Amino acid sequence: MSEPVLTIVVPCYNEEEVLPVTIQELSGLLSRMIGDGRVSPRSRLLLVDDGSRDRTWELIYKASLANQLVKGLKLARNAGHQNALLAGIFTAKEASDCIVTIDADLQDDITAIPEFIEKYKDGCEVVYGVRKSRKKDTWFKRCTAQGFYTLMAKMGVNLVYNHADFRLLGKRAVTELERFREINMFLRGVIPLIGFKSAEVFYDRKERLAGESKYPLRKMLGFAFDGITSFSVTPIRLVLTLGVAACLVSILSGTYFFSLKFFGETASEWTTLIITIWLIGGLQLVAIGLIGEYIGKIYKESKQRPKFIIDIDMFNLPFGLMNQTEPGTERYHLDSGKLPETN
Ligand code: UDP
Ligand code: MG
Repeated sequence: MSEPVLTIVVPCYNEEEVLPVTIQELSGLLSRMIGDGRVSPRSRLLLVDDGSRDRTWELIYKASLANQLVKGLKLARNAGHQNALLAGIFTAKEASDCIVTIDADLQDDITAIPEFIEKYKDGCEVVYGVRKSRKKDTWFKRCTAQGFYTLMAKMGVNLVYNHADFRLLGKRAVTELERFREINMFLRGVIPLIGFKSAEVFYDRKERLAGESKYPLRKMLGFAFDGITSFSVTPIRLVLTLGVAACLVSILSGTYFFSLKFFGETASEWTTLIITIWLIGGLQLVAIGLIGEYIGKIYKESKQRPKFIIDIDMFNLPFGLMNQTEPGTERYHLDSGKLPETN
């Protein structure tokens, strides 16, 4: 088997602080792997700018002029982590045998990538990077993550424990992934559904090199909620059960208070009444809200909007063309992404 063409896809959202190091580390690793004959010389590093508002695209653009191995993809606006990953994966699909995705902050151990390739050569279409422990995480992140996995498991969503978006996908897996047409793509949940032979590679996860997390608590909760409602109808069932239970409670207590009447006692307890009203009202609101959430999902899916829009694709540009030295060409590229006139 000839050496596989590898593309390393990195989603970047406002990562100017960490990007220079990231580019250096990853392109260094890539050129070593090419040198060792582990991967094809046509392997590339693809940095996806997910509508950043800082100098991220400028850094990507300049790096791609200076280094053949580095390519850039600019999304028209912020599409979110998962969609940025998809944009990179699908852009690189044709030209690559396998694709590794890794976060820009290099929390994941890049030395696991050669191991991914070994597994790929053994015939794995999916290789999951799994962190050994969460010691380096803050106590808070550790607890919320633990809660997330437990909750997802309870809801019947199969996730690879302690695996985030550091993974290898072979061409066949990517081709199949393309057939999952949902707008709300939750990769960690979808990838295990693809199947094929897979493997796990364990590594130590480090702290963010620089910059700050793009997943504050609000986004994390949203992510978890999306993950659950995109994958399971258990919450709706739970609400149904709650509703039935609430009805039973009110029937039983109603019978009780009614029978009290026969014994000459009156239960004129406002408290019970108010509590009951609030309880039932609350339950109904929760139920309607949950159902609304699912209907909202259906609404979004039915529109079939594109998950991401590409502004500039340097991945599929030949290096020679990109590297024009005519005055002004560079800015022309940087701002509009259009090819300079070549005649
Ligand atoms: N990211 C992105 N778009 C977004 C948010 C994040 O492309 O809207 C990227 C970000 O640049 C990073 C990765 O997704 O490469 C993971 O984000 P982060 O490291 O902030 O998340 P954490 O590791 O804290 O969960
Ligand atoms: Mg991170």
